[in-house]
Amino acid sequence: MSAGGIRFENVSVAYGSTVVLDSLDLSVEPGEVMALLGPSGSGKTTALRAVAGFVQPVSGRVLIGERDVTGLPPHRRGIGMVVQQYALFPHMRVEDNVAFGLKAQKAPKAEIPGRVAEALEMTGMAAYARRHPRELSGGQQQRVAIARALAIRPGVLLLDEPLSALDAQLRSDMLAELARLHRELPDVSILYVTHDQVEALTLADRIAVMDRARLQDCGTPQDLYRRPRTEFTASFVGNANLLPVTVGEGGVTLDGVALTLATDGVLPGAAATLCVRPHLVGLGDGPNALRGRIAEVQWRGSTHRLHVEVGAAGRRLKADVGELRETPALGDEVTVHFAPEDGVLLAAGVTDG
Ligand code: ADP
Repeated sequence: MSAGGIRFENVSVAYGSTVVLDSLDLSVEPGEVMALLGPSGSGKTTALRAVAGFVQPVSGRVLIGERDVTGLPPHRRGIGMVVQQYALFPHMRVEDNVAFGLKAQKAPKAEIPGRVAEALEMTGMAAYARRHPRELSGGQQQRVAIARALAIRPGVLLLDEPLSALDAQLRSDMLAELARLHRELPDVSILYVTHDQVEALTLADRIAVMDRARLQDCGTPQDLYRRPRTEFTASFVGNANLLPVTVGEGGVTLDGVALTLATDGVLPGAAATLCVRPHLVGLGDGPNALRGRIAEVQWRGSTHRLHVEVGAAGRRLKADVGELRETPALGDEVTVHFAPEDGVLLAAGVTDG
């Protein structure tokens, strides 16, 4: 199977009159890991299933490589797929589970044992070939599911919340494992559905942020984190302070306090939202200084999260600060600040991708 990327061209999916995927345009380059990140119900799985061929779009096209696969049945699309609940056949041994896709594809009989061994080797499961799924842990079952998906040497690998049934430690191990597999299979395009931003930030080359059936934002993890385009992205990818500001001829003000910020095309007179990451807010005087009062202190081991009510309106600003000689007390008056380049101005009303 040759690699070649995935392309959604204006793909919409509806159940009855409810549109659950609205005009999705998105390309996954050959060899790229694209995470579809968003809250539950935002349409991520639907998008993935449209690539797999388990749902039929009401409009638009899905391409794998140069091939329009919109009308093709799932088994003719050359995809490997792994879902949350492993979905192994309980009565089949590991090796037969892994061979299943190859047989369905009518791979030459003589090739099958070698391909099964190769896939099990790749996922570290070679020693378990003769076991049944019930004799394996959850993490091992998921490795077998991955081996089964890889056995057909897919050009495209679809992963739907593959780690969400695993406990935290195992999840972290498997995340490293998936990163390694991706390095070993540099030509395979991976579409990875998750609601977990850590998984998306760790694994993805780019993240497509979904909300309410629509693509909201798409970019590298660094881009989305540093320069989110929408409030939704800012709050869903990382932690964010979002404060309403006014953009005037003279610059940006927060409740009357002038701020130094790049306005990046936000027009004077427009309402806008200022996004600043909590760890980029410092305690003490500096650029964009704001006077305020401590409203809450949370100790988090390596940092303190301070909630500071700033300005005339007493808006809450979160500041994550490191070691403090003296922990501020509730009600203390403090000054907080942030560097001009750490504030991102979001135009109001930009919610659609
Ligand atoms: P996500 O993966 O982001 O959690 P989904 O793509 O699974 O979201 O679902 C998007 C929306 O489509 C949800 O509101 C869900 O209830 C609805 N939906 C999904 N599958 C079906 C179906 N077979 N019939 C009707 N509605 C569905």
